[in-house]
Amino acid sequence: MTYLSPWRATVLTLFPEMFPGPLGMSLAGKALASGLWALEARDIRDSATDRHRSVDDTPAGGGPGMVLRADVLAAAIDAAENVPDRPENRPRLLMSPRGRPLTQSCVVELAGGPGPLIVCGRFEGVDQRVIAARALEEVSIGDYVLSGGEIAAMVLIEACVRLLPGVMGKPVSGEEESFADGLLEYPQYTRPQEFEGLSIPEILTSGDHARVAAWRRAEAEALTQTRRPDLWAAKNSGQKLPKNTTKG
Ligand code: SAM
Repeated sequence: MTYLSPWRATVLTLFPEMFPGPLGMSLAGKALASGLWALEARDIRDSATDRHRSVDDTPAGGGPGMVLRADVLAAAIDAAENVPDRPENRPRLLMSPRGRPLTQSCVVELAGGPGPLIVCGRFEGVDQRVIAARALEEVSIGDYVLSGGEIAAMVLIEACVRLLPGVMGKPVSGEEESFADGLLEYPQYTRPQEFEGLSIPEILTSGDHARVAAWRRAEAEALTQTRRPDLWAAKNSGQKLPKNTTKG
């Protein structure tokens, strides 16, 4: 399905001033300025109800750190969902090291929808009850722990935005990138012809497009086999991967 209104990311965070940050620059920034996508960063603290504007409390059962409160976060999600031009059926994500790993196929799927609502955790994480009550899908950007979900959310948004129609110069550039067709990308070269005694492979300057394509394919396969045997195995097991682009 193609959505007519621009793809929109709504981010719930304790640090809304971190946005757009790097998303306001380069390809994503130009596309944001020209209305190809929209970004809304909302302060979770605006949904606090006590005079100290508290958003966290100590973990039930003891232990270090603090936990984001279910009632405050649920109110923040409800307020974000309760806007007149709210996109229908948008994914509700929680950035979390425990989540489903973010892959290019998840990115393609998210970029093809209306755009997600993204909750950024802080402290020790968020109260489990709000995850269940608001059906948040946990998404991880890798097997390491960040101090907060904001940079993880930016990674996810940046990966989606570059696939939106009109954002990349040539749509075809997405089709040949790493993970398209389950492979890592072939090596790239540009001028000068000689660099510290190393030449550009002769085939790339031959002008023979069929040979160039065959060379690139072989390089991509060899790299994938060596560096990412998991991807190579998935490709050869016939697992279907979505194409690396979204429809305009
Ligand atoms: N106590 C949590 C645990 O061990 O799983 C880690 C909490 S972390 C310090 C605080 C927040 O950073 C998380 O709630 C999450 O929003 C974000 N975060 C940290 N690592 C992340 C990752 N790898 N992917 C996505 N979000 C992450």
